[in-house]
Amino acid sequence: MDKAHIKKIKKTILKMEPLVFDQLAQKQKTQLFKFNENYKDFLNQSKTERKAAIQIVRAAKAKGFVDIDTLLTKELKSIKKVYKIFQGRCVALAIIGRKKLLAGANIIASHIDSPRLDLKQNPIYEDLSMGLMKTHYYGGIRKYHWLAIPLALHGTIITSQGKKDITIGEDPDDPVFTVTDLLPHLAGKIQADKKISEAFEGEKLNLIAGSIPLGSKEEKDRFKLGVLNLLYEQYKIVEEDFVSAEIEAVPAEKARDVGFDRSMIGSYGQDDRVCAYTSLEAIMDTPSPDRTAIALFFDKEEIGSEGSSGAKSSFLEDFMSDLLFISGQNTDNRTLRKALINSSCLSADVNAAMDPDFKDVHEAMNAAKLGFGICMTKFTGVGGKSGSSDASAEFVGKIRQIFNKNNIVWQTGELGKIDQGGGGTVAKFLAKFGMNVLDCGPAVLSMHSPFELVSKADVYMTYLGYKAFYSDND
Ligand code: MN
Ligand code: MN
Repeated sequence: MDKAHIKKIKKTILKMEPLVFDQLAQKQKTQLFKFNENYKDFLNQSKTERKAAIQIVRAAKAKGFVDIDTLLTKELKSIKKVYKIFQGRCVALAIIGRKKLLAGANIIASHIDSPRLDLKQNPIYEDLSMGLMKTHYYGGIRKYHWLAIPLALHGTIITSQGKKDITIGEDPDDPVFTVTDLLPHLAGKIQADKKISEAFEGEKLNLIAGSIPLGSKEEKDRFKLGVLNLLYEQYKIVEEDFVSAEIEAVPAEKARDVGFDRSMIGSYGQDDRVCAYTSLEAIMDTPSPDRTAIALFFDKEEIGSEGSSGAKSSFLEDFMSDLLFISGQNTDNRTLRKALINSSCLSADVNAAMDPDFKDVHEAMNAAKLGFGICMTKFTGVGGKSGSSDASAEFVGKIRQIFNKNNIVWQTGELGKIDQGGGGTVAKFLAKFGMNVLDCGPAVLSMHSPFELVSKADVYMTYLGYKAFYSDND
């Protein structure tokens, strides 16, 4: 067999694994970089689930989306673009399609919460002539990542006078907060000689909050008083208000370009706001689809999708029921169930990219890599795929065809090599309705760290991939 013939056979039978930057024309590369500039702005404005929800609703309103709750009392069937915000932490957008919702929707579901340090309900104390604040970490963090970096506070506080929102540490002139770390000279016995899991304790993730006392030496707890007094003077917050507050400490740094070629973005919170942003832009850029398009932005994924704003809640059923109502369709339980079971869903979440320094935790043939496009993850889970919803061959086949038809650069991934560890996404909580669900999103390095890294090429391909899914009419 001659070389040309073998080349032809190879082209026919071998799976291609193209790099996004090899596939794009110059004009697309320009669009890719422009898209990512806006994405960085979104990241900087969306450091918490509440802030992300505000940004999503603001963007949707600007594109003509209407609050669905305002339509439940009036007949306004002409309105096709709607949103719902629930508890300020969980959002849904929809564009009502030409086909009846009974035939199912095309749904993309991401999450807008990220790992962080939450203030405890009795946080303020003093030690060694300093005011400090106790935290409780939220989600899967590597505790040492949170030491000796500048942290900003974002909070919602229910005082006896009403609701207050605070943001301290994001403006360059604001003060920041920090968890201290031990100097290497003295870290031997306490940290360096221990296993990492034992070297850093959750109860030691305390934030430095001040060091000027209130009153003279005779005054008891005068450093704690100093902090509380400032909080009262500036925000009218008293100690008891922390009991009914959600105050999150997050990295104060902004999203940055990474690399000489600026091909990557480093930022806190890209798991999973990269999928939130790309699905938001995708639905806003989908003009009148055949099938109803829905974008869901859940809270609480990082702690197991629990709670009334997480993916285990009834939020989707409630929203679907509202969609049936405003489009004048049956709203009985059977119709709702059929609308859900006939839907298709991309569980929009990140996967772990293979790390040049830690290749061993992956199996190279099946791991995702930075720069190779949107990643389809057929299953997640632990051990023998335990806890995974495992997408069907039929549905993976369908998404693969949609991507190929639309020149989307895609790859496949899994969450580490067998028995290495594992994890999950919202996929299984949507699959319970009977709909097809596939995990689909960009690959990330340093996932769950204060500086997660993505490829701009993958961000852009994820947006294009989501848009192609929304525009699919079968
Ligand atoms: Mn995630
Ligand atoms: Mn995560």
